[in-house]
Amino acid sequence: MAEETNAPVASAPDPSVVATLGDGTKVKIRLLRQRACNEKDAKNNICAGHLKRWYFFGDEVKRKFGPDAEIYRCEHCKVLYLPNPEEEPRSGTLAW
Ligand SMILES: [Zn+2]
Repeated sequence: MAEETNAPVASAPDPSVVATLGDGTKVKIRLLRQRACNEKDAKNNICAGHLKRWYFFGDEVKRKFGPDAEIYRCEHCKVLYLPNPEEEPRSGTLAW
């Protein structure tokens, strides 16, 4: 009777995932002061790779988040992270 027909959401239990790129790359929002990746693999192990500022994103990321987007990437599993909106940028307008 109460069939949900408008819920094509796949199994995505991680609420911090905000987008998935065409090539399957996940885009997540960083937790406050998060510096290591919290992706889990199939065995439920935390990735814990370093999140590094990343400038080499392609057109799809530019379209979604802007050409000057602040993007971080896990150097281990390549998941992309956006800065947490509640986190104050430490360097103001000064970019590294
Ligand atoms: Zn990772």
